[in-house]
Amino acid sequence: MGVKYRDYYEILGVSRAAGEDEIKKAFRKLARKYHPDVNPGDKTAEEKFKEVNEAYTVLSDSEKRRRYDKLGPDYRDGADFTPPPGWEYTNVNFEDLGDIFGGDGFDFSDFFTSFFGSGGRQSGGSRGFAGKGRDIEAELPLMLREIHRGGPHHFAMDVTERCPVCGGAGFNQEKTCSSCKGLKYIKHRKQLEVNIPAGVREGTVIRLAGLGTPGTVNGKRGDLYLKVRIRPDSLFAMVGEDDLQLELPVAPWEAVLGATVKVPTMDGTVGMTVPPGSQGGQRLRLRGQGLKRRDGTRGDQYVKLKINVPVTLTEKERELYRALARESRFDPRSAMMGGGV
Ligand SMILES: [Zn+2]
Repeated sequence: MGVKYRDYYEILGVSRAAGEDEIKKAFRKLARKYHPDVNPGDKTAEEKFKEVNEAYTVLSDSEKRRRYDKLGPDYRDGADFTPPPGWEYTNVNFEDLGDIFGGDGFDFSDFFTSFFGSGGRQSGGSRGFAGKGRDIEAELPLMLREIHRGGPHHFAMDVTERCPVCGGAGFNQEKTCSSCKGLKYIKHRKQLEVNIPAGVREGTVIRLAGLGTPGTVNGKRGDLYLKVRIRPDSLFAMVGEDDLQLELPVAPWEAVLGATVKVPTMDGTVGMTVPPGSQGGQRLRLRGQGLKRRDGTRGDQYVKLKINVPVTLTEKERELYRALARESRFDPRSAMMGGGV
């Protein structure tokens, strides 16, 4: 998420040392200047007005201002900003701004929502601020067989929940809640299930609605976005998007004489003909035995032959090889002899 730092002091035109009164004065002056009633239809003024309100929401609240000041004076307005961990769980309590933009919510910048929560003014009399929680991105490592077959996949993840002991208040009978240590939220490991559609690939994003961080007040939870990562497989390598390759060991006599062999595939095994005179490194193709695509069709599986030589031989086997060596006219190096070209 590309979040830009906002310099609230600069927006209000006050110094970092400004006191409450000075901030209030600066806000009132700017709010009057950019108020939508004074500038009907003026988008720039409306943006300015929102900016000014946002700045005042933070700087007029000692707790928010303290948190904001912790970022230090080194950030410039518009600079790329990554919120430090743990900043996102502060409840937003609204200053009395009036229902200027109607009931459909007050726009805060990504910068603001990245550590004070997000927005959407709660309709009704409450001053509480019902904001949707933040979306979370996580990686989802899957086996090749899982992306091929699809179906339910179970995994465990730390999920943020409103603290059940204090109900998300952060305190109990005036004391800091001992369960959440005043943070209002707790994390706990949860078993989750996601249904993998067949045909997902590296980088495919799957959305799980409502599994992001909780919203403020009664706001909706954010969503969880899972990005598929394909785990390396011990047998199969991916070739392009849909094809697979498997290295298949064959015996020397299978390569020479030809054979019908069993080959592992994504769905079990299939019989394959190794033609007589096959060479090591040669690739044979099993059509339609690759990965399932979204449309139900499938890629191919390539089988790369590897000639494995027996290392422990009986005396009889050794004698047969000796007889073969005496009998054969085959010279694997004939092409490179004779001085070369
Ligand atoms: Zn608590």
